[in-house]
Amino acid sequence: MSYFEKLRLLPVINQALDALEFKKPTPIQEKAIPIILKGTDVIGNAQTGTGKTAAFCIPTLTYLLNNKAKAALILVPTRELAGQIDRFWKALTQFCPEVTSIVITGAVPMATQLKRMEVVPRLIIATPGRLVDHLQLKNFELRSVGVLILDEADRMLDMGFRAQLDEIARAVPQKRQTLLFSATWDGDISELAKKVLSHQMVRITAGKTSQAAQTVEQALIKTTESGKRDLLLEEINAERGQVLIFTSTQAKVESIGNYLEGYGIEVNSIHGGRTQGNRNTALKQFREHKIKVLIATDIAARGIDVPEITHVINYDMPQIADDYIHRIGRTGRASLEGKATSFLTLEDETKWVAIVELLKRTGSTIPKAVTKRATRAANIQDVESEMEVALVKNRKPTRSHPGARRENQWAKGTVNVKPAHEQRIKPKA
Ligand code: AMP
Repeated sequence: MSYFEKLRLLPVINQALDALEFKKPTPIQEKAIPIILKGTDVIGNAQTGTGKTAAFCIPTLTYLLNNKAKAALILVPTRELAGQIDRFWKALTQFCPEVTSIVITGAVPMATQLKRMEVVPRLIIATPGRLVDHLQLKNFELRSVGVLILDEADRMLDMGFRAQLDEIARAVPQKRQTLLFSATWDGDISELAKKVLSHQMVRITAGKTSQAAQTVEQALIKTTESGKRDLLLEEINAERGQVLIFTSTQAKVESIGNYLEGYGIEVNSIHGGRTQGNRNTALKQFREHKIKVLIATDIAARGIDVPEITHVINYDMPQIADDYIHRIGRTGRASLEGKATSFLTLEDETKWVAIVELLKRTGSTIPKAVTKRATRAANIQDVESEMEVALVKNRKPTRSHPGARRENQWAKGTVNVKPAHEQRIKPKA
């Protein structure tokens, strides 16, 4: 008898798990599902890709099938995550489609959402901002909600949704089950937990908090800003699977996309400046393997669920150290092997120091920096430097590039600047 069979789930759920080919539970599922099924409040600390969506959706569906007049509410930080959970819900309810869901996020006009709400949904998956807009306009109320789930609660707090979360917690009945999932644990989260969860809550940890998945092989390449493009091309050409690239700005997403397209690589992008329709198309193309490369800013870092990604490339280091773990968590999901390559420039050293601190704190593997120059880039740079010598023989470093020489030497490894993680890291005061 399989683990899921032993749980004596309802037949329609078992049928769906068979169809999804979920044979063995992931650790968070093994720990959380029996407790949530009992109606207990739960705090789940789970890293990305651990199967936490199923861990809360399976018991929630059980509850909704057993309590026909009740509804459930899942709050998420981003539209992408809402879409991802909704897709999983549709797969999970394929043999009981009457347990309908609706996604309420900022991308869709409120009137359209209201029309869809005419068929009262059993599950609402919402971003806090738009849900509060509806509540304030008294478009609908949440009195039938028996289960409240806060997914990626740390991210919702980072995004400044604290007031909205409080307002939603006031709008749902006091008598309810609450589940809170977060990749990290700090003072803000524990304060929120105290407010929304009952005292009898159970805390479940799967893996160390925010630990980078062990199935991801990390690589760190020292380079310069101008060296990144050719290295990127080499990495992509050497990769047979799909590649997800993270960069810092919308403009960079566009320019890298154009650059790769120039080499005949099928690519699309998602970032906050694109319409929801375009973002959905890009994700769909990626999911269906119609494109090899997807380029994204961090806005998408937590929302994408494409189990087949083999390679994540951090073209730029993330601003927030936590995002490094979320980004590389896009690969190596559900114990598949994955690779994460990060480009490190001298400019990004301080960001890397913070990432190393986080990796150390969470007991994750810290990659060693290697120096690598793309073959093509090396040729071009050599030609350029010869031309430079010929044209501007006695030029001194210009004011606009005071550190250019040091940066190049650093990237080439010809000057002894220790990589960040080998430097002494002072503990924060
Ligand atoms: P999540 O952490 O919820 O985003 O899930 C990560 C991926 O693992 C998703 O593609 C899930 O469909 C998949 N997954 C979750 N649970 C299982 C399981 N028990 N067996 C196989 N795959 C799973």
